[in-house]
Amino acid sequence: MKGSVVVVSGPSGAGKTTVIGLCSQHRSDLYFSVSVTTREKRPGEEEGVDYHFVTQEEFDRMVDEGLLLEHAGYVNHSYGTPAAPVAAAVERGLTVVLDIEVQGAAQIKQKLPDSTLIFLTPTHLSELERRLIKRGTETPETVSRRLETAAKEIKQADRYDYIILNDDADTAASELDAIITASRCRTGLRYGMLDTNI
Ligand code: 5GP
Repeated sequence: MKGSVVVVSGPSGAGKTTVIGLCSQHRSDLYFSVSVTTREKRPGEEEGVDYHFVTQEEFDRMVDEGLLLEHAGYVNHSYGTPAAPVAAAVERGLTVVLDIEVQGAAQIKQKLPDSTLIFLTPTHLSELERRLIKRGTETPETVSRRLETAAKEIKQADRYDYIILNDDADTAASELDAIITASRCRTGLRYGMLDTNI
């Protein structure tokens, strides 16, 4: 592996996009994987930028053809990471950032043991509810489903290498920056670079 793979998971409304965005202002080595999903496009989202929006048939075909590095179901919809762009970015020595949920994160760790798993969440679940309602993109029913899912996800945070408490976005972004730097120094990545010729 020439570049590193960093997974950032966290419940809906945790502020992953904001924190990753702030962190990317200081770094030029990041490659953001664009997932495929069967969910509907939200206002302001762009095809190919936020997601590749596909039908369930197209998604199933990608799974069957082995085109996804990982995939999972999340609140009635399917999500997956296209494998080829990740492999190409790693080959170029970039740090691949995957914003994916917990089942997908476990699949990545199994396939790529040198990946770094980060769980990002505010300390209190009540803060998530406040942010989801403020965002206004979900129906009240979806908000409560997402909160139930969030509570389950937070319980699985102990499977991650790092936990970032996003109570303040700037602090969270500088912690993410530090972890990404550490991810690039992992022995699995660096050992092969050592030159023992005298
Ligand atoms: P949203 O619908 O809010 O954009 O995303 C819902 C959840 O799906 C989030 O937790 C997000 O991290 C996760 N997600 C997005 N893309 C992928 C993916 O490619 N694979 C997996 N496993 N989860 C994803």
